Amino acid sequence: MNEEIYIFCPDCRGKFEVVREDIVEGEVLECSLCGAEIEIVQEDPTKIKLLTEEEED
Ligand SMILES: [Zn+2]
Repeated sequence: MNEEIYIFCPDCRGKFEVVREDIVEGEVLECSLCGAEIEIVQEDPTKIKLLTEEEED
């Protein structure tokens, strides 16, 4: 069963739908609205962060 959930894009602030099974810690999703890359930092409750081109070290 593919439960669909909504992710709020931290970049464009739009809402897009993903299936629950795609929410895996460490996975990177792409916003279907603006193409931003969004990393799953925690599965439950779902926490995400925007991936930027610049890496901090
Ligand atoms: Zn977006």
